[in-house]
Amino acid sequence: MEDSKNADYLERFYLNYGFGTRCIHAGEHVGQPQAATHTGAIYQTSTFIFKNAEEGADIFSGKKDGYSYSRMGNPTVKLLEAKMNSLEGAEIKKLNPDLRVSTQAFSSGMGAISSTLMALASQGDTIILGDVLYAATDHLAFNVLNRFGINSVTVNPADLDAFERCLKQNPKAKACLIETPTNPLLSVYDIKAISKLIKSINPSIKLVVDNTFATPYLQRPLELGADVVVHSTTKYICGHGTVVGGLVTTHSEEVKTSLYTVLKDVGANPSPFDTWLVNLGLKTLPLRMEKHCDNAMKIAQYLEHHPKVKQVNYPGLESSPYYALAKKQMKRPGGMISFELKGGLDAGRKMMDSIHLFSLAVSLGSVDSLIQHPASMTHASVPRDKRVASGITDGLVRMSVGVEDCEDLLSALEHCLGKL
Ligand SMILES: *Cc1c(COP(=O)(O)O)cnc(C)c1O
Repeated sequence: MEDSKNADYLERFYLNYGFGTRCIHAGEHVGQPQAATHTGAIYQTSTFIFKNAEEGADIFSGKKDGYSYSRMGNPTVKLLEAKMNSLEGAEIKKLNPDLRVSTQAFSSGMGAISSTLMALASQGDTIILGDVLYAATDHLAFNVLNRFGINSVTVNPADLDAFERCLKQNPKAKACLIETPTNPLLSVYDIKAISKLIKSINPSIKLVVDNTFATPYLQRPLELGADVVVHSTTKYICGHGTVVGGLVTTHSEEVKTSLYTVLKDVGANPSPFDTWLVNLGLKTLPLRMEKHCDNAMKIAQYLEHHPKVKQVNYPGLESSPYYALAKKQMKRPGGMISFELKGGLDAGRKMMDSIHLFSLAVSLGSVDSLIQHPASMTHASVPRDKRVASGITDGLVRMSVGVEDCEDLLSALEHCLGKL
């Protein structure tokens, strides 16, 4: 029990520090035997030695905090979880000191999402999904969880009347999962309004927000009424394209307990080394996000006035239908942009082959700029009619703007677009 007292103390200790300070210091000494190393140590071990029979028995019975086996907990992982508690939860804890915020780390974003949905829904229950989700999340709901008797329905989170009808038509719903901003069209949904609606109709539904595109630096769903926040740390949180990982943060004791059961029995736990890299990445999150946002804004403005570009999707542009909501809900509009080329499929392919500096790759949120063409890559398997109806047109290009010098990114774009 001493360890958890210590963790609570350290969590409270950092409450009044700014976000950037907490990125660097919060959690650093949680779970570590002494503050002997400057950065948290990597506990690259599968199992832990007990001092004696009594300690082994006490750790297993929960009488004493401690580690037994790395699937069930590891000091390096615990450090990252404590840091994330502080980043997503410090502001709500200041308002309500009794609230217990907890984070569970996973081996991937999908490990985090699948475990969350398994923790929340059982056979016969329903999950309400936003109609634009990461492709694997959609596939998980309709091709995996459905086989275990968990049904899913989709709704457009921008249409609150439709959302209300959906809530009333699905009294057995246990969870609602949305993403904002969305991929690849950067739609922004009103987390506060959706949370209010859910609480007024069926308060037993937990609102889960996939905060991968925004990170806690730009948007904190728990402060806006969400019950659970999920992240793919593969993206901005790690930020260097080195790790596949996930995190789930919640202030619900009930969710925390069932999530831990799923984690230890299903086993989507992260490796200590990957976790250490994620923690290292998190330390510079505010610096990176500011630069991602600076660069994305300049590039979005440049593209908006380019003769080869039909339309730009970026919630930071005043022309975006999501401008006002993004301004209210997010600190800044983020580093992701998508835009439509006038030349359609051919122009999209040609751009992928002639662009310099931007790596032709899926994924996002890395310090380097990445570019991809959904119609010929990530969404090539979706029938054209369906794809175009969902807004993923032939000439749509998605860009994850990195933290390079912006002039270099702009001249790479100028050079490439000039050739189309
Ligand atoms: C990448 C991503 C995921 C899945 O995460 P993995 O780490 O690849 O498993 C889930 N949601 C969003 C929004 C993502 O971008």
